[in-house]
Amino acid sequence: LMHLTKKLIEIRSMLLSIDKSDALKLPSIVVIGSQSSGKSSVLEAIVGQEFLPKGNNMVTRRPIELTLIHTPTGENGQAVEYGEFPSLGLGRITDFSQIQKTLTDLNLAVSPSEAVSDEPIDLRIFSPNVPDLTLIDLPGYIQISSMDQPETLKEKISALCEKYIREPNIVLAVCAADVDLANSPALKASRKVDPLGLRTLGVVTKMDLVPPEQGATILSGNRYPLHLGYVGVVCKPSGNSGHRETMDVVARRGEEYFRENAEHFHSSSSLMVGTATLSKRLMDVLESSMASSLHGITNAVQLELEEAQYQFKVQYNDRRISPESYVAETIDTLKGRFKDFMAQFRKPAVRARLKVMLDERVMDVLEQLYWSDKRVGEFTALGEDRRLKPEDVEPYWKYKLEAASSLLTKSGVGRDATVLVADGLRTLIDSIAAGEPFNFHPRASERLVQFAHMILRDRIPPTSDQVENCIKPYKYEVEVDEREWENGRKEAIKLFERELEMCEEKLKEIRRKVGGSRRLSSLMSYVRDLEEKEREKKSRRISQAALGADKEIDDPSLESYKYAPAQLMDARHAALYTDRLGILKIRLAVLKSKRCKAGPESDLLCPEAFLNVVADKLAYTSSMFINIELLDQFFYQLPREIDSRLLYDLPRNEIVDFARENPEIRRHLDLQDRKDKLEEVMKRLNSLSVLRTDAQPTSRRS
Ligand code: GDP
Repeated sequence: LMHLTKKLIEIRSMLLSIDKSDALKLPSIVVIGSQSSGKSSVLEAIVGQEFLPKGNNMVTRRPIELTLIHTPTGENGQAVEYGEFPSLGLGRITDFSQIQKTLTDLNLAVSPSEAVSDEPIDLRIFSPNVPDLTLIDLPGYIQISSMDQPETLKEKISALCEKYIREPNIVLAVCAADVDLANSPALKASRKVDPLGLRTLGVVTKMDLVPPEQGATILSGNRYPLHLGYVGVVCKPSGNSGHRETMDVVARRGEEYFRENAEHFHSSSSLMVGTATLSKRLMDVLESSMASSLHGITNAVQLELEEAQYQFKVQYNDRRISPESYVAETIDTLKGRFKDFMAQFRKPAVRARLKVMLDERVMDVLEQLYWSDKRVGEFTALGEDRRLKPEDVEPYWKYKLEAASSLLTKSGVGRDATVLVADGLRTLIDSIAAGEPFNFHPRASERLVQFAHMILRDRIPPTSDQVENCIKPYKYEVEVDEREWENGRKEAIKLFERELEMCEEKLKEIRRKVGGSRRLSSLMSYVRDLEEKEREKKSRRISQAALGADKEIDDPSLESYKYAPAQLMDARHAALYTDRLGILKIRLAVLKSKRCKAGPESDLLCPEAFLNVVADKLAYTSSMFINIELLDQFFYQLPREIDSRLLYDLPRNEIVDFARENPEIRRHLDLQDRKDKLEEVMKRLNSLSVLRTDAQPTSRRS
């Protein structure tokens, strides 16, 4: 049956990791006692090592879940003893003073205002010198709170102990022999939950401090009977402070005491004394308690397991996942998105986008150089009006065209085109980083954005320079062939038609806003008059200033208050759109005319077609080099950056953390984990019940 306890202790640890509720609990021994009753000394005597925090102030502030695992002696006959804090991941600790220090730190981490915490510390000790036991050490009961402790501390400790001494746990009530048992807070607390003392074992410490006959009377338990009885111990350290005494010495001193007073303790033979007896007694008690819990716990686990299996089937159709598979899936998703994006950044697409940017620039240049030119009429009539001799006017328009071309080619296309494409990349990456599943992973998403920005920052300057360099020839000369011309002409027509449509749309909007076309035309003529007057006034003022007269001529045009300022603004805009429409219409007619169709030699006549060809050449060349210098690099580097730095090579715990950031995955993993653990526990329990049915007849006979 030894085997049974060991296996059940393992199962108990597993159950603890599945569920903190009482439903799935195997019994443990809970150690309670008032401060200084000798609780720590008893526990250390059982373990055979000094490992508990010491100090005048209350040092146990959190429950310690102490699991003792009896291991075989090493091959060379040496005892390998070590402890582990499974939740801290510190590995094996063979130095018990290190364990003591860790426990002290963990206890001191509880803030003074909180004073006690009910979050247990999990400590496992492996040794050939320990029995298989689970013990829970709790803060000692106190009489009065000291100055720096909260008033409620006493109640807090009581509540914490009360929580742990519930069924099915066994209570180990520690009382000092030199204190009347009637005053023992441990016995009082235990009596509350276990009035008959069926699952309470008494430990009477400091037996050496009372006369042996008195000690023997206490142990006989006649005054406060306990079904499991009392064990008397002496765990007195030498008192020689600063000197670490091995527990063997302490234990031997205890055994000696009882041997010396054998006539009181060993004569009647029913009295239990010594730490070895205590260990044995604890093992027996735990074992039989565990054995009797076996049936109930098996049923409870079976029920929980069925529920978990059902949920796993219903919610996830039995689909298993792992944090690793989720990470891989996330990377795949990311790369998939990337592939889709690459399609959006193929050369023709980029070229089209650059062309749109340059088309706008062409419009600006035209407006700046042509449409506001007073000789624009002459320009339109060029080649038609016989009175105009080409040789008279051509140099002017030739100069204009060169200026226009130069404005376009020297407008910083390299940088602007590069930044335009880089901005497109940035926006797309930002949208990936903000979308599922990265919205669940803020840190990963931030790093993704960081990588992308870093590459872009690196690539923008050389790309800009390269593009600027490659379009350099166009700054000096642009050759246009027939096919290009025809294409440019058609593109210019399309562009103008779009612009025309837009102007008409705007005018319509304004017309609607001011209340019809009649109203708009009266508004517009009013504004025109107003502007006329304004101009006259200005010139008059100038001539007056020239005459030396400083007196203002007041011409209060009261009329300007006839319409609301917003309406006047609308009228001004309408006038601009109307002018623009007039020009666009004339220019469209020219672009569609035979003269323009003639070919590149009509460039002076149709600068729009020419500039369109220039814009197209700029877009083509820019897109080519942006593709090589920026896009290829970006789509090559970013996936590699992701592979090597985003999620790969993460330690296991970070992979788990990452996966668990996604709430859906976390739920899935939690349920899967619960189901797996319950299955494992069930398997072990089933193998045990075979053991148990074999064992049962024996235990009944005994
Ligand atoms: P805890 O506060 O309940 O954990 O008590 P400790 O184990 O720290 O013991 C309190 C004090 O009692 C310490 O000074 C121990 O040295 C002393 N002590 C513990 N066990 C014995 C014992 O069996 N006999 C004597 N004389 N002193 C003991």
